[in-house]
Amino acid sequence: MWDTNRGGSAMETTAGTGARTVRAYRGNQLHARGWPQEAALRMLMNNLDPDVAERPDELIVYGGRGRAARSWQAFDAIVATLRDLADDETLLVQSGKPVAVFPTTPEAPRVLIANSLLVPYWATLDEFNRLEAEGLTMFGQMTAGSWIYIGSQGIIQGTFETLAAIARKHYGESLKGRLFVSAGLGGMGGAQPLATKMLDGVGLFAEVDPERIERRRRLGYLDEVAGGVEEGVRRALAARDAGEAVSIAVPCHANDLLAYLVAHDVVPDVASDQTSAHDPLWGYIPDGLDVTAAADLRRRDPDEYLRRAGDSMARHVGFLLRLQDAGSHVFEYGNNLRRRAKDSGEADAFRIQGYVPAYIRDLFAQGKGPFRWVALSGEAADIHRTDRLILEMFPDNALLRRWITLAQRHIPFQGLPARIGYLGFGERDAFALRVNDLVRRGELAAPVVFGRDHHDTGSVASPYRETEAMRDGSDAIADWPILNALLNVASGAHWVSVHHGGGVGIGYSLHAGMVVVADGSPATDARLVRVLRGDSGIGVVRHADAGYELAEATLRAHPVRTPLIGPQTQPRRTP
Ligand code: NAD
Repeated sequence: MWDTNRGGSAMETTAGTGARTVRAYRGNQLHARGWPQEAALRMLMNNLDPDVAERPDELIVYGGRGRAARSWQAFDAIVATLRDLADDETLLVQSGKPVAVFPTTPEAPRVLIANSLLVPYWATLDEFNRLEAEGLTMFGQMTAGSWIYIGSQGIIQGTFETLAAIARKHYGESLKGRLFVSAGLGGMGGAQPLATKMLDGVGLFAEVDPERIERRRRLGYLDEVAGGVEEGVRRALAARDAGEAVSIAVPCHANDLLAYLVAHDVVPDVASDQTSAHDPLWGYIPDGLDVTAAADLRRRDPDEYLRRAGDSMARHVGFLLRLQDAGSHVFEYGNNLRRRAKDSGEADAFRIQGYVPAYIRDLFAQGKGPFRWVALSGEAADIHRTDRLILEMFPDNALLRRWITLAQRHIPFQGLPARIGYLGFGERDAFALRVNDLVRRGELAAPVVFGRDHHDTGSVASPYRETEAMRDGSDAIADWPILNALLNVASGAHWVSVHHGGGVGIGYSLHAGMVVVADGSPATDARLVRVLRGDSGIGVVRHADAGYELAEATLRAHPVRTPLIGPQTQPRRTP
């Protein structure tokens, strides 16, 4: 069994005057009554590590106002509860506030989380803002409120795979000699520069907040900062012509950069956007305003702010459409920019394609998605050991091999060392079993957690993103993420969450998350297999039910009992 007293050190939460610095404990000593509770404690703290969270002072992890806990008081209460939570108790967290502990069983989850949920008729941004202002709820985004955010690394493989799919479709294997233009260098958007560089391309990014630019450069995700739009465009075109791989940020509004490109007939090869358009009040800055002026207007006149943000997004999409018509490959990268723009008068917004139907759905149909694992020891060597294991276990998975090799070379760790790997159905549990064995044998310095983004194969209903343009038209059916969460509870995941509004904003999505801990114990073997099979398997079933042949083929390779699925099983009713 695991020796909980072997070496290691931990960093305490330090309280100052208002602001504080939180970093997760490291090492193999427990500060709770078991590794599942300790894992939840460390991952909550890790979400707020200043190297991980975008605005930790406000408990904001990423995605506009995606928070880890409702308030510092709630954070302290969660920490205190996790420390003495027994192995047969379950903590309930209601939108970032720890509301109750009930006796359950050792096999049950230790934490159950519901974030930002509203009854559908009331699920509007206005109502959410009102309730949040009353202190009754919080926005959990996806992994912020469910304590499995791993910094920009959490999205970088998705960005890499999306750009790689575009490259494969149009240019061959890489983006060498190609220009990618986008905006937003926040928690997720900050992965864009590094992903472009990993594919040997040139990336040019507008970011309105100079502090975010500096943060990306400090964390090793960005190469250069231009003095202005003209300088940035000149540098990018020169790099493109020279076949140089480089990422360049311009401190400006997205519309300033795009307007310049349109006016000077500069047509990027690929264009997108990663501003927090899903949250027009807190996430997207209207053109003509800098960060300070935007904060002032938001406070003084939120309605006027929303009007200006909407107009700005309509212009934003208008520019992207002009670039698309001039030959750029343009896609929306999951921030709901098209819907916002359409609502503000850009009638053609949906001529821009969404990235999931265009590039990612085939992965989902095979149960592949942003699976991830984190070394609770805090030691990079533990992740390097799991990298070697991946390469050894999946010699034929070219995509995964390329990814792991590049990730080792390019990706700096943020907070607790972690890795993301798009493993599919059948692969996740096989890998986790072997990792549990490494923990058991003491080859890793402490247990490892396995989890994933909610942006996964069966865990989200989001008609402008993960479930856009489903083959059977089932885009808005939200039974699947709820079944996914229920199955994870039944299978014994260590914490399970159900959220609303992640990625695309309030009213537009429902989604679920899970985390399971490999503590090295033999009993955990069966739990890992149960949880990880069901968790990715349900996504394959969801896609097979919608008629995707790749999902049907995946189920033939990894059989699941499916009494009645497939488009031919849906009885049609005429009104
Ligand atoms: P974030 O809030 O951390 O960062 C957004 C950044 O955009 C900030 O740095 C902000 O200063 C900048 N910004 C805002 N308005 C701008 C403007 N008009 N011009 C230039 N810069 C502007 O958010 P994030 O975590 O980086 O996520 C960005 C968006 O991507 C969100 O809408 C999120 O839901 C979505 N997202 C997509 C995926 C995916 O897989 N495609 C995954 C996660 C998040």
